[in-house]
Order: sequence, then structure tokens, then C-alpha cells
Amino acid sequence: MIDSFGRPITYLRLSVTELCNLRCRYCMPEEGICKLRHDELLTEDEMIRAVRAAARLGVTKLRITGGEPLTKPNILSICRRACRVPGIVDTGITTNAIRLPEMAVPLREAGIRRVNISLDTLNPEKYAYITRRGNLSEALRGLDAALGAGFEKIKINTVLIGGFNDGEIPSLAALTKQYPIDVRFIELMPMPGGAGFGQECYLPAAKVLEALPEAKPEQEEGVARLYRLPGAQGRIGLISPLSRHFCASCNRIRVTADGKVKPCLHSAEEIPLKGLDDDGMLEQLRRAILNKPCCHQELSALNRSQAARGMNQIGG
Ligand code: SAM
Ligand code: SF4
Repeated sequence: MIDSFGRPITYLRLSVTELCNLRCRYCMPEEGICKLRHDELLTEDEMIRAVRAAARLGVTKLRITGGEPLTKPNILSICRRACRVPGIVDTGITTNAIRLPEMAVPLREAGIRRVNISLDTLNPEKYAYITRRGNLSEALRGLDAALGAGFEKIKINTVLIGGFNDGEIPSLAALTKQYPIDVRFIELMPMPGGAGFGQECYLPAAKVLEALPEAKPEQEEGVARLYRLPGAQGRIGLISPLSRHFCASCNRIRVTADGKVKPCLHSAEEIPLKGLDDDGMLEQLRRAILNKPCCHQELSALNRSQAARGMNQIGG
């Protein structure tokens, strides 16, 4: 379906849980979040119904996210059923990788084609600091498992944080030489629920290029500007929601674990799906697409996202 500003909406991000086994400082509070009642969450059948309705409206690409999707007990069943919905041809999952050692092969077998792994540092102490509880070696074992499971594409997502990991840009980018994976640097977004980061933490993604003068541009893909290091197997991506937002070409809608459609990541508007049948969901998704704003306001340390929830509740 085409939205009111002529953008084809082809991409659904489905958050299957807001719970997580980590507590990344930019994403959620240390104490976690109030657990929703079971009856407030979309059931597995409702999630599949939402995917089916989205596919009927022209969505072809699905990403499963969270919270941490691999903590959801029925995640394999959700993936298996969602990947089989007619019209959905491109399926991915975004994960912190902690549970990938046991889940990578079953996810691939369930039909997931692409995996995005969040990894902000290669330093064990810094990893423990930014995730508040994570163990870097577990995440790296997860990456290894993904590499061995036959996914069509693996990407690392790194949130660029001034004074924290900007000194690691070359070593993170070097992963594209070591492995056939892309590493994407994402500008830190000022989201509710995230810790207060000072202005100095919000770096423009262009800083990545200053640290990688040998990187050569490649064709843009989706929201990322792409580059390649000499001889690298994978590419470097820059995702710039602050310094160069991509609203004009935004093709996505989001559904939260409690069944709210978000027409825009940074707006407070949410349209409920919980309890609806196929036609009801179709109508609500249509409404969400027609209500998609042309763009979000400029974001900065002082001008925070208008989203009504944290990233762990939206799914990125
Ligand atoms: N738990 C999974 C993970 O971390 O990959 C999936 C959910 S997480 C909310 C999805 C993505 O959002 C991650 O790549 C994470 O780094 C990113 N993210 C979370 N908070 C962010 C923020 N404030 N700014 C930029 N990216 C953020
Ligand atoms: Fe959890 Fe992902 Fe948020 Fe980190 S970014 S707290 S892993 S949901």
C-alpha cells in the first residue's frame, strides 16, 4: 500500500516481547520494565494474523525484534509461521546474540533468512558496562553460531556513542575483513527509557568515515549509506536518523508486543490491534499507513523522541 506521501509501505517490524536478558543503557532502565499482563500481549495467533494482514496490504519484508526476541518461549513457532505467510519473502531477526548458540540453526530452519546482531564494543569490560549485565564472550559465541548456521545475510548493529566506542570504529569495522558480514554504525537516538546521554555522546555517523579514510563508497541500500574497506568481505553501513534522517523513503510500520501499530518510530501515535479478527487488523493497519506522518521532528540530546515508549518496547 502507498501512504499519503507516496511511499510504498513494504516492511513490518514485529516486536514479540518487551522483555530482555540485557539492559543496554541507551535502550531500557536498569530495573527493567513493568511486565505486561499475559492478556495484554498479542497471542501467537494474533501476531500471525497481523503479519497476514500486513502482507495483504503489500508488506513483503518482516523483521522479528523485541526486547530480546530469543527470550520469547515460542519464538521458533512464531518465526516458522510468520515466514510462511504468503507474500512475505524477506525475513530477518534482530538479536543481542546471547542465545544464538542454541537458537541459530533452529531459526534458520524456521525460515529466517537474515540476522542482525547488536554489538557495540569488542572490549569485555565495556560490553558489561553498556549492557549492564552482558558477557561479551557469549555474544561472540552467538556471532560464531550465526556464521555457521547458513543465514543469507548477517549484519552487526553498533550504536555509535561518543566517548564510549568511537575509538573502536577501526576494530569494529575490521570485522568486515574477518567475516562475510556488514557492520552498521547507527547514531544514538534520544529515546524514552534510555539513560541520559550528554550532547557529546551523540556523534554524527560521518565520524565513522573520518576514522576509516580508506573506506570506499558503494551503492546505498535501504536506510544505510554503504562503504567497503579494501579487501573486505562485508560492508560498512552508516545509519543516520539524526544527522540525515530518511523519512522521505521510510517504508516501515511497527507492531509492538501488546499489539499497537506505530506509524512512525518517533511519534506517540499508536493504533491497537489486540483482539481483532483478520478484517479488523487489516483496517487498523490501513489506518496506520494512511496516518504515517511525512517525517519526525529533528532529534538531538535536547530534542528527544516523541515516542511514548522505550526502544525495548518498540523494537528499534
Ligand atoms: N534485543 C535485540 C537487539 O538488541 O538486537 C532487538 C531489540 S533492540 C531494541 C533493536 C535495536 O535497537 C538494536 O540494534 C539496538 O542497538 C537499537 N537501539 C536501542 N536503543 C537505541 C537507541 N537509543 N539509539 C539507537 N539504537 C538503539
Ligand atoms: Fe535488550 Fe536489545 Fe534493548 Fe539491549 S538493545 S536492552 S539487548 S532490547
